[in-house]
Amino acid sequence: DLSFLHPRAAHCDRLYGGLLVDGFNEESCHSRYQSAMYRRNPGRRPSPYLISKLRRHEALQRRCGPGTAAYSHALEQLRSGKSAASPECAYVVSISYRGIGNRILAAASAFLYAVLTDRALLIDPSNEMDDLFCEPFPNTTWLLPPGFPLADYTNFSVDTAASYGNMVRNKVIIRSDDGVAAADVPTPAFAYVHLNYDATIEDNSFFCGGDQRLLRRIQWLVMRTDSYIVPGLFLVPEFQEELDMLFPERDAVFHHLGRYLFHPNNHVWGLVTRYYDTYLASARQRVGIQVRVFGGLPDSPELLEQITTCTHKAGLLPQVLAAGEPTLPASRAKSKAVLVTSLKSWYHEKLKSMYWEHATATGEVVSVHQPSHEEYQRSGARSHEHKAWAEIYLLSLTDVLVTSGRSTFGYVAQGLAGVRPWVLYKPANSSAVPDPPCGRDVSMEPCFHKPPGHDCRLKQWADPSKDVPYIQHCDDAIWGLKLV
Ligand code: GDP
Repeated sequence: DLSFLHPRAAHCDRLYGGLLVDGFNEESCHSRYQSAMYRRNPGRRPSPYLISKLRRHEALQRRCGPGTAAYSHALEQLRSGKSAASPECAYVVSISYRGIGNRILAAASAFLYAVLTDRALLIDPSNEMDDLFCEPFPNTTWLLPPGFPLADYTNFSVDTAASYGNMVRNKVIIRSDDGVAAADVPTPAFAYVHLNYDATIEDNSFFCGGDQRLLRRIQWLVMRTDSYIVPGLFLVPEFQEELDMLFPERDAVFHHLGRYLFHPNNHVWGLVTRYYDTYLASARQRVGIQVRVFGGLPDSPELLEQITTCTHKAGLLPQVLAAGEPTLPASRAKSKAVLVTSLKSWYHEKLKSMYWEHATATGEVVSVHQPSHEEYQRSGARSHEHKAWAEIYLLSLTDVLVTSGRSTFGYVAQGLAGVRPWVLYKPANSSAVPDPPCGRDVSMEPCFHKPPGHDCRLKQWADPSKDVPYIQHCDDAIWGLKLV
């Protein structure tokens, strides 16, 4: 019984309003049914349609997943190189690369695409993706098993001949305006979908309706993205009606997908809960500050000042008094615990000293904590990945968040938390503190950093944020798009 944690925990809904399905073995994954007890913010309610669609998709994953007859048939088809006429099951394999934030957003994007197109999702286990999460679907696995026939799929790039973009350009598959391939051109058994930052116009025609009708005939898709392509899926006319029903609140798409899919495994959950219970649980309020810095850069007094100015102006943390100023009696009832995450320890040390060496103007008691400082990004190293995931999750358990602009690490935390963060804008000139130092994000959704800029019908450059009311440019990446 963990109801002592929060007053709200007593009424907590461990299944998040039906988002999660009951009946999983609890020992195999403690976080799945315990995480709601650690959240003060219960978050948004999933729509009944989303819940029923998830249950149907779980059945599809069981019917088509590794170990089934349908899966063996599909592998044979893939080896043969020809698409089956009406295959029992179709698949999307999501490549896992770059940092954990990128990988989580890629997996969530591929999942939503799988749901929209009735494909089973399989996750590339590279970069420890097989050692961070619990299985999201009951009685099956979402991990791509070893021995996949496309042996070098993790090296697929913009130049891969079997990419959808290259096959269209080289007329290996023929697009007609209604999306029906010419009858004499056989449909390949698989296509590589390159939706990376360096995607070409042809790659990005993935976001066009006619191309989606063509892609539907290809049994295996292997997808690479380093971003959150979901706003792009909202631009595909074929998906719009379904997306409206799944997500009547369009600013909570990743919030639901993230809470549904990504449960820390027992090892990571141990890291999360021991830290939370020791340093964060007893404070009246938890403030998360994500300081995204890069290994080789020197510690920046300007960034430190940006953080302190932001937290004061936004009313998240109190100002400190100069020596000799009259102090208020310190009040433990008004305690705040600050969770700093960063590759470097300097920002945390400075904040911590500031609140030790000076009294706060409000009498609030401020404690400052940082779980790790790994110094350099080491994607794929096991204990490094465990810590990174634990820290994202800990940030998502805080009550208010300050994040670093353009960081997928922060996007995942804010979505799981269900909060709109204060975003530290990247200054144009790193020797000056930006004014304002931060701003409140318009929604908790991640930003799609490199969206398609090409209008499918007009066949020219276009800005979707001009026509679609629920899609805006991102404050932290003006060329990006996000759902609001
Ligand atoms: P992004 O590069 O900011 O979009 O975020 P990613 O998560 O995709 O990549 C950054 C990677 O650097 C993480 O996955 C971690 O490996 C590492 N990293 C960055 N910031 C932190 C941090 O605050 N804590 C830890 N433990 N690792 C971090």
